[in-house]
Amino acid sequence: MIAVLEPGCPMHQKAEVVRLIENEGLRAQVSELEHETLVGVIGQAGESLAARLEALPGVREVRLSAPPYPLTARAYHPADSRIRVAGVTFGGPEIVVAAGPCAVEDEEQLLSTARCVAAAGARLLRGGAFKPRSSPYSFQGLGEEGLRLLAAAREETGLAVVTEVLAPEDVELVARYADLLQVGARNMQNFRLLSAVGAQPRPVLLKRGLMATLDELLLAAEYVAAAGNPRVILCERGIRTFEPATRGTLDLSAVPVLKELTHLPVIVDPSHAAGRREWVPALARAALAAGADGLIVEVHPEPGRAVSDGRQSLTFAGFEAMMAELRRVAGALDRTLPGPAQAAPGGGA
Ligand code: PEP
Ligand code: MN
Repeated sequence: MIAVLEPGCPMHQKAEVVRLIENEGLRAQVSELEHETLVGVIGQAGESLAARLEALPGVREVRLSAPPYPLTARAYHPADSRIRVAGVTFGGPEIVVAAGPCAVEDEEQLLSTARCVAAAGARLLRGGAFKPRSSPYSFQGLGEEGLRLLAAAREETGLAVVTEVLAPEDVELVARYADLLQVGARNMQNFRLLSAVGAQPRPVLLKRGLMATLDELLLAAEYVAAAGNPRVILCERGIRTFEPATRGTLDLSAVPVLKELTHLPVIVDPSHAAGRREWVPALARAALAAGADGLIVEVHPEPGRAVSDGRQSLTFAGFEAMMAELRRVAGALDRTLPGPAQAAPGGGA
């Protein structure tokens, strides 16, 4: 429910609207726009509230058809949210690229990848220390040792770190090392986990579930915001359809639809959608054209030897070539993508 106030509505009338909402045990979210003020009602409103709000001086109308995710919906908060992650801004003019291996395997693998992707223009290093694997016999991740390696790679390259958290009891540990906490596709509706990442201060990358509708994704984001953390970045990563040629079907329509429904930044993971490295650059280019604010991409020094998702991981040369193409796409869209770094004196990158 949203109360729309008359333009120029005086302070004391706004305060009266907020007081009425809060007296019901609900929260009021005020958005000052150019020509009107919106007061969103957060929580389960009783039936009579709309009529009582409408009767207050200064209230022009009450919209009942607003979406059930008030903290996330653009209807309540029309301006794009910009979310800062360790000095990098998602949701602004810059296309933000996170890149790195599916899983952190060892120091050399991670550091060499971090140097490559940083030099090619990525701003975040990805890499799983806790891996959600379909089989209990597959590599489950290095755990805290993986987090330490990610932090060391950040130290050396200046890249921010995004890594997955699998369970509520690991949130504190992962948040000690990561700049951005990833909630993976399989956990998109793990409501305890959503509330746990909502109750800590690091921003959250929320990936769409394999079978989740966009409404379910937005309600999942609402769980995080409702627990106190509004800094959520959404990620389309391919959904499960009848088509077996690709690992998932990249639902690019999700990008403009989400952009309309929510003020949160939206990024795309072309790697898990494609399942094969050959198809990743095309999906990445299309994602930017569709309006994505960034990408998360898998890169490995020797994809053939990767412990997970090698088939979809780009080589270093493949990543560099893709970034060069994406820079041209970004330019055509009036957006920016950082250029390749100057090689550090003495080599390295
Ligand atoms: C990953 O990023 O490596 C991952 C497991 O992603 P998803 O949750 O989208 O499958
Ligand atoms: Mn992966």
